[in-house]
Amino acid sequence: MTKAEIIDGKAFAAKLRADVAEGVRVFKVQYGMVPGLAVVLVGTDPASEIYVRNKGKMTREAGMNSFEHKLPEDTSEGDLLGLVDKLNRDDRVHGILVQLPLPRHISEQKVIEAIDPAKDVDGFHVVNAGLLATGGEGIVPCTPLGCLMMLKHRVGDLSGMKALVIGRSNIVGKPMAQLLLRESCTVTVAHSRTRDLAAECRQADILVAAVGVPELVRGDWIKPGAVVIDVGMNRIPGDDGKTRLAGDVNFAEAAEVASAITPVPGGVGPMTIACLLANTLTAARRQMASG
Ligand code: NAD
Repeated sequence: MTKAEIIDGKAFAAKLRADVAEGVRVFKVQYGMVPGLAVVLVGTDPASEIYVRNKGKMTREAGMNSFEHKLPEDTSEGDLLGLVDKLNRDDRVHGILVQLPLPRHISEQKVIEAIDPAKDVDGFHVVNAGLLATGGEGIVPCTPLGCLMMLKHRVGDLSGMKALVIGRSNIVGKPMAQLLLRESCTVTVAHSRTRDLAAECRQADILVAAVGVPELVRGDWIKPGAVVIDVGMNRIPGDDGKTRLAGDVNFAEAAEVASAITPVPGGVGPMTIACLLANTLTAARRQMASG
């Protein structure tokens, strides 16, 4: 029997989506219009197609408008930037998400920077990254935002706790570290050049793994009683010859030591989409408030 509490991301996300749907209902009454999310997909990457389909479905379920733009793989950078510009100026669109990765001939950075920061519901624009780093009110990237919500729900006040974030990507690791710093944690960021990762892990009251290496973090790396958030989503061969999803943490081992842990699947993943909907509603409210 595992000792750790399993943090149920699915249930948490369902509650957040219900809260967003209620917020959308109030928004409609207040402004006589519906928040809208535009999702842009370039190419036919099967994983991206599934993400985009799910995002559209959940956007509609929350009572918002979903505008889906599917463009062919050979779309030029100029044409994509043209679409982003059109969406920036469309009053029915409050959030814009361009599904990554983009085909190699298109600069992701250029496209992200072309999105109006007020509509950048992924929170990847340099303005939103800067606001997060300087304590401003920007839009926070969905995955770390979901991790923080679950952490605060489980732990309460995070102030003074030692937090380790493994991974320094712009979409997960860095914003996660910023959020934890904002909660007054003592934050360490580990990455591929970190010398003794196990020793760093053993110090952490809060451990967030966003690496992309299946089951990298072992049970004996974890401080007894720590709270573990596993962001990793790795496809590995399963016992039945099919593939299965694995996190960056060895769940069975970690659950014997941690006080609470998110499973994969069913932990961080569902929260990411729920936070996208929450960010879209937040963006819509701010746009209406600023005229
Ligand atoms: P990334 O490849 O951009 O970054 C990975 C980071 O891990 C890098 O900073 C690298 O320095 C570090 N790293 C790599 N190997 C390491 C090692 N051996 N020891 C320590 N650090 C190491 O990945 P990302 O986009 O940040 O995603 C990380 C993981 O999270 C992936 O599995 C991804 O699929 C998953 N993810 C999940 C969600 C979700 O919604 N659940 C969202 C985004 C990413």
